[in-house]
Amino acid sequence: MSAGAMFDIPFAGGTTDRADHMRGDPRAMAEAMAGDALLLCLDGLNPIVEGGRLAWDRLESAARGDVEVVFLGLREGRACFAPVPASGSLSPGSGRLWPAVAALSADELALYGAARSLVNWHARHRFCAACGYPTALAKGGWQRDCTGEACRAQHFPRVDPVTIMLVQHEDMLLLGRQPRFPAGSYSALAGFVEPGESIEEAVAREVLEEVGIRVRDVSYIVSQPWPFPSSLMIGCLAHADHSELTIDRTELEDARWFTRGEVAEAFAAAIRGERDREFSLPGHQAIAHHLIGWWLDRA
Ligand SMILES: [Zn+2]
Repeated sequence: MSAGAMFDIPFAGGTTDRADHMRGDPRAMAEAMAGDALLLCLDGLNPIVEGGRLAWDRLESAARGDVEVVFLGLREGRACFAPVPASGSLSPGSGRLWPAVAALSADELALYGAARSLVNWHARHRFCAACGYPTALAKGGWQRDCTGEACRAQHFPRVDPVTIMLVQHEDMLLLGRQPRFPAGSYSALAGFVEPGESIEEAVAREVLEEVGIRVRDVSYIVSQPWPFPSSLMIGCLAHADHSELTIDRTELEDARWFTRGEVAEAFAAAIRGERDREFSLPGHQAIAHHLIGWWLDRA
C-alpha cells in the first residue's frame, strides 16, 4: 500500500492502464486506433461532462485530419485518446471548470487531469526548443520528435515539481495568503523546486524567502498532480525553531501562526463549504486541504 493510500487526493488515484508497452509499437498503436477506440470530448482544455461522467466520441468517427491524438491508455480493454488541434492555441474552454469536474469520480478526474496536462503540452510544443523546426507527435503522444534532419531532438511532456509545506512551531501552524486569494483565505506556503535543489532544500529556501523562518526536519507527506498546466505538488511538513516572521510582501499579503483550535474550526468550515469567514481554508480540490486535515488528525 502506498503512503498516499490514506489520502483521497483529487487528480490522483486513476485506474487507467497507461500501457506504456504499446506507445512505442506503431502496429499496436494502429490497431488500437482502428478498433473501438474512444476520443475524449474537450471544450478547449475543459472537460465535457454528461450525467456526471466524461463524454467520449468514437475515435474513428470523431478524429479528423487536422487533429493529433494522444494515447491515454486502456480502460476496460478499450483504447482511449485525447485530441490536440494541429494548430492554434487552446482556449481554456467556455464552461466553468470546477462545477464540471466536481461531478466526476476520482478515477475520471485523474484521467481528465492527465489528458489536460498532456494536450496542453502538445499544443505548446509544436516547435523544437533546440532548433526551431516543427516537432511531430511520437510514442502515442508521450514524446515529440524534432523534424529537423540535423537535430532530431526528442522532447518529453514536462512535470514541474512544486513544494507545498506545512510549517509547525510548537502546536501552531504557519499559513499565508497571496493577494489573489479570496478575502480571509489562508493556505500552506508553496514554491517551485529550482534546478540544483532537493525537495528538502526547496522547502527550506521558500520558507526562509517568504517568511524569514529557518526550518528543519522536512518530511514528505503526500503529493498531487495538478494539471494547471503540469505541476506535481509535493506536500511536506517542516519544523520551525522560532516564530518571528519577516514577511516578503512581494510574495505574500500576510502570513500568521494559527493555533490547532483555530485551524480545526476553519477546516470544519471548509468541509461545510463556508467561504465568507475571517479565516478560511482551501476546499477539497487542493492538496493543502488534505495536508491540513492530516496535521489535525495527528494528536
Ligand atoms: Zn530540433
